[in-house]
Order: sequence, then structure tokens, then C-alpha cells
Amino acid sequence: MSAKIAVLPGDGIGPEIVGEAMKVLDCLRREFGVAVETEQALVGGVAYDAVGHPLPRETLQLAKAADAVLLGAVGGPKWEPLDYSVRPERALLGLRSELGLFANLRPAVLHSQLIAASTLKPEIIEGLDLLIVRELTGDVYFGKPRGIRTLENGERVGINTMVYNEREVRRIAKVAFELAGQRRCKLCSVDKANVLESTELWRQVVTEVGKDYPKVELTHMYVDNAAMQLVRAPKQFDVILTTNLFGDILSDCAAMLTGSIGMLPSASLNESGKGMYEPIHGSAPDIAGKNLANPLATILSLAMLFRYTLRDEATAVRIERAVEEALDAGVRTADIYSPGTHKVSTSQMGDQVVACLRSQAS
Ligand code: NAD
Repeated sequence: MSAKIAVLPGDGIGPEIVGEAMKVLDCLRREFGVAVETEQALVGGVAYDAVGHPLPRETLQLAKAADAVLLGAVGGPKWEPLDYSVRPERALLGLRSELGLFANLRPAVLHSQLIAASTLKPEIIEGLDLLIVRELTGDVYFGKPRGIRTLENGERVGINTMVYNEREVRRIAKVAFELAGQRRCKLCSVDKANVLESTELWRQVVTEVGKDYPKVELTHMYVDNAAMQLVRAPKQFDVILTTNLFGDILSDCAAMLTGSIGMLPSASLNESGKGMYEPIHGSAPDIAGKNLANPLATILSLAMLFRYTLRDEATAVRIERAVEEALDAGVRTADIYSPGTHKVSTSQMGDQVVACLRSQAS
């Protein structure tokens, strides 16, 4: 039976980068007999323009019925004046909470071919392979009360609530310990337990869960120090486990270690392993429609989809190998270009990955 993937290209560069991932998927079907069906739907600003809501009911139904979701990106200046409740970004929060996608996996791997594209010194990042496990359905993004209110004296206040319950911390901690156990067995839990009670509880619960994983070495770090350590000596980390807010920020920082945000895929999983897969970057309005965006983060997100939801490791590895071979061939989109390499467009990069994939079949 075919697996079904809901494909949500979204806004800005979304359709361009997802288009390249679809070429890869077509090649996998044709050359390797991979059995997957896809169905596209609107999400984000384009959905708002079409039907007045960033997450239309049909899109949510499709996402719920599918085995996995592949998403491009949402948002852009056009929709910034809209009320928060219908902003494109609300669609992401809606998908995450409706599908129960509490575990966000963000690998930051330096492809050795891109060492010159990073702003950090080669010796700092060479061989970098870390995984950020970010809690995705709690914290200030969902906590209540929230909003902007006007006090009796006429002054406005903005409110968000940082809140975690024990169950939320326990289930994400288990995911992180399991993954660390399959890697180098080192887990660093990042919090701000010295000043924030919600993360004091976080630290207590992570420590309790750690007792069930004696082979995994658990350490704790405050988020401000973690930000510094990520650029000072990132190779000290294997798996970083952190909260929704801190993970959001630290993973962008980790992205730059690898050369470009255009290289980083992500998986967001629920308790039964169903997932939404997307690049960690946004809709990049500054380069949208110009055939300039790097599609590799989206293509690598497709690899994660095969690994974590479809449990097809061979296909995941095949895609990742094709990306490596494309980089070996010297082609680079503008964001990862360095002298001596060959600058290509979004679609040329996709074509190169497909060509490398096809050569694996012959
Ligand atoms: P962004 O990630 O879209 O862009 C930041 C910078 O990185 C830009 O200079 C952009 O050109 C570059 N960039 C991003 N992806 C790239 C790629 N694949 N190839 C080459 N360069 C790339 O972040 P932003 O500018 O802060 O946000 C733009 C819009 O995206 C906003 O509306 C924001 O809310 C939204 N956003 C959406 C998501 C998502 O859909 N998951 C995530 C973050 C931001």
C-alpha cells in the first residue's frame, strides 16, 4: 500500500523549494519503485488570500489523514498587517497542536564540502554533527494568558505565559534520551533554571527521566551559556534537549555553524511517529520567486520523512547520499557559494540531486 504525503508548499520560496523535493520524490518513484502518493493543499498567506484562513479545514483534514506532511514555509510582509489569529504563522502552530507534534528534531550537520561557507573557523566546525531536540507544543507559544491588554490607566501590556507541565517535559525528554542512546550517548539539557520556575521543573523532570537511561551522560546548561558554547566549541554537543522558545533561537544559531540556514531540515513528530517535515528557515521573501533559494534543507527534510515516519532508512540514506554527491560535484546555491565552486539556481540544484540519485539506480 502506498504511503500518503500531504504537501503544503506555502508562501515565498515555499513552492520553489518544495517543487525540487517533488522532483526527488518523482525520481524515487520512477527509479526505485518507492510507493508514495502526494496531495497538495494551501497553507499560510496563500491560503488566507484564497479562503480567508491560513489553515483551511480541508488542509487540516488532509494533514490529519496523511501519513506525513511535507511543508515549505509560510509568511511574508504582505500578511504582516493581519490580526495574529489569521497570520500565516498561525497555520504552523495550528498544525503542530492539532497533530500533536511535540518533538522537533533539528540535526545540524556540517557537510565537509561547505566548510568554507561557514562564518566560523574550520577547526571549530569540522566534523560537526549535533541534534537539537526542541519541545514544540508548549511554552510561551501556547501558554495562557496571552495577548495585548490595556490597563485602567490606559497603558498597554503585552503578556505571554511560559508554562510546562510534568507530562510535557517527560515525553520530550524520553525522545531525546532515546535518540542520544542511538548516537554518542551525550545529552545536554538547556534551560534557565536559575531564574525561571517553569524550567526549574524542566530540569527536575529531565533528571528523573535520565535515571532510566544510565548509558546516556546527562548534563545541564543555562541557555545563555549554551548560545555562547554553540559558537565557541559546538563539537562538545551530541544531543541538545531544550524548550520551545530556547530551541527556536538556538537552532537558528546552530544553522549558521553549518554554512546556511538553507541546509537544515527538521522533523516534528507526535506520539505515534507521524510527522511534519520542513526546512527550518522561513519563506525568505527577499529572494522569493527568483530561483535563488537553496532547496537542500527541504530535500533533506524529505529524507527525514522516510527515516522517521515511513521507516524506510534505505531511501533516507539514498537521498542524503545524493545531496552529498551534488555538493561533491561543486554546485552551490548563492547562500553556500564560495570561490572555486559553481553557482547554480534552485532548480539546477534540484536537477543535480536528481541526477545523482538516478546514477545510484544504474
Ligand atoms: P527566513 O528564514 O525566511 O530568512 C532569513 C534569511 O535567510 C533571509 O536572508 C533569507 O533570504 C535567507 N534564507 C532563508 N532560507 C533560505 C534558503 N532556502 N536559501 C537561501 N537563503 C535562505 O526568516 P525571516 O526573514 O525572519 O522570515 C521571513 C518570513 O518567514 C516571516 O514571515 C516569518 O514569520 C516566516 N517564517 C516562517 C517559518 C516557517 O514557515 N517555518 C520559519 C521562520 C520564519
